[in-house]
Amino acid sequence: MTTIELVQGDITRESVDAVVNAANSSLLGGGGVDGAIHRRGGPAILEECRKLRASRYGKGLPTGQAVATTAGDLDARWVIHTVGPVFSTTEDRSALLASCYRESLRVADELGARTVAFPAISTGIYGWPVDDGARIAVETVRAADTAVEEVRFVLFDEQAYEAFADRVR
Ligand code: ADP
Repeated sequence: MTTIELVQGDITRESVDAVVNAANSSLLGGGGVDGAIHRRGGPAILEECRKLRASRYGKGLPTGQAVATTAGDLDARWVIHTVGPVFSTTEDRSALLASCYRESLRVADELGARTVAFPAISTGIYGWPVDDGARIAVETVRAADTAVEEVRFVLFDEQAYEAFADRVR
């Protein structure tokens, strides 16, 4: 069984085996949580991301997939980068958002990570309504077949925290 914990705060301050990054497909950094992870984690993360672009992901990391790098100076062993879908009102992209959580846990299992911190993927710059983002996150983690013992959702603001709390209760 995987335990779900909720924390309101900055994910770059968490001590866990793996921190999940809501990256963009370039893997070369961006705003929001991605920028915060690279800032606090330091240049070692970007260096590995550049190598991944040059080797496995020449066209970028596809939406819904996940890949790990070092966590640099973060208090974690790995950063798992996943690319959330941009929210759309004309197309249902929920399966891609669910895939981000599932694939991140699959990569965590490959690494042997037992504690994993997730942000609310796609609910910032990518515009996903936070209540629905929370529903997909919690449902997907609950349904996952994983050896991860603790999933910690780290929510930056109170609205996101409440949205996740409503789903976990
Ligand atoms: P996306 O492009 O996937 O929407 P964002 O980084 O813009 O990614 O936002 C995803 C979520 O991460 C949002 O809910 C945002 O408030 C939150 N967020 C931003 N910075 C941090 C941080 N340092 N720690 C945790 N969550 C964060």
